[in-house]
Amino acid sequence: MELRALGNTGLKVSAVGFGASPLGSVFGPVAEDDAVATVREAFRLGINFFDTSPYYGGTLSEKMLGKGLKALQVPRSDYIVATKCGRYKEGFDFSAERVRKSIDESLERLQLDYVDILHCHDIEFGSLDQIVSETIPALQKLKQEGKTRFVGITGLPLDIFTYVLDRVPPGTVDVILSYCHYGVNDSTLLDLLPYLKSKGVGVISASPLAMGLLTEQGPPEWHPASPELKTACKAAVSHCKSNGKKITKLALQYSLANKEISSVLVGMSSVSQVEENVSAVTELESLGMDQETLSEVEAILEPVKNLTWPSGIHQN
Ligand code: NAD
Repeated sequence: MELRALGNTGLKVSAVGFGASPLGSVFGPVAEDDAVATVREAFRLGINFFDTSPYYGGTLSEKMLGKGLKALQVPRSDYIVATKCGRYKEGFDFSAERVRKSIDESLERLQLDYVDILHCHDIEFGSLDQIVSETIPALQKLKQEGKTRFVGITGLPLDIFTYVLDRVPPGTVDVILSYCHYGVNDSTLLDLLPYLKSKGVGVISASPLAMGLLTEQGPPEWHPASPELKTACKAAVSHCKSNGKKITKLALQYSLANKEISSVLVGMSSVSQVEENVSAVTELESLGMDQETLSEVEAILEPVKNLTWPSGIHQN
């Protein structure tokens, strides 16, 4: 598995990262044994980067990931773990007090002494000024205490990243995690890449399968996309299926092909999904992309290209 540098962190993350939200049973139930086996298979096949949050499955994802990582029985420095703070089943709280408590709770559930990255989770739901003046400084203290090595911010609207990065001292936000903005149906993250590079910030892009829209099983009940976007993605999935092609492979390869993105986080809940997704990377390296199918899928998705959905609260 290809490893890519993550901004100025010095970390080398696998091109495909393991999204652990499905281990919180948010896309359907996942048994503990399957969760552990999935994490082990991912690591065995070269995935060294694992992403979770206390929000996923109301802390279940962190617990499952912790069990899976423990079962690896390898030195802690062999894998990279990111978790988040500020978003919980109960709601949002980006106060310094809450995030300090949050990391201790996460470390306990993950059975770890430190995480590599601690992100503020979905900051568009909080006050961005609080993120700048209170949350990020609190995370710097956690960095100094060794509870996290690096600090990140995540969310859906792309302008949240420039808002925060323009207002914090250089080196205080090491990475950003964007989701659903670098895939076949939406590639708007592309415009932000030169800015992020100029700031020395590492780029993680999540949800290449558009949180299930680009899978044969389809999106979960809670998926926020409009009916128009859902219908178009369904048509793209059917087109691939009827031509004997896997939309998941195509969609993942599309996201992976841009090397300015350090890691593409895919949510995985079974050994077979891990195997399929890792072979998509290998095939991309050896055979390149199936350009013909890509063009057909892009044509189907053209009417909904870059269509997204609202997320967060109004910011002043
Ligand atoms: P995704 O686009 O990766 O899709 C996940 C869905 O696709 C799951 O149902 C999974 O089981 C399925 N899947 C994966 N591989 C498959 C395959 N080969 N065949 C068929 N189905 C397959 O969406 P996601 O899980 O939401 O995003 C990936 C990860 O990124 C998350 O787990 C999370 O760690 C992170 N993320 C973070 C944020 C944030 O910080 N705000 C938002 C979204 C995602």
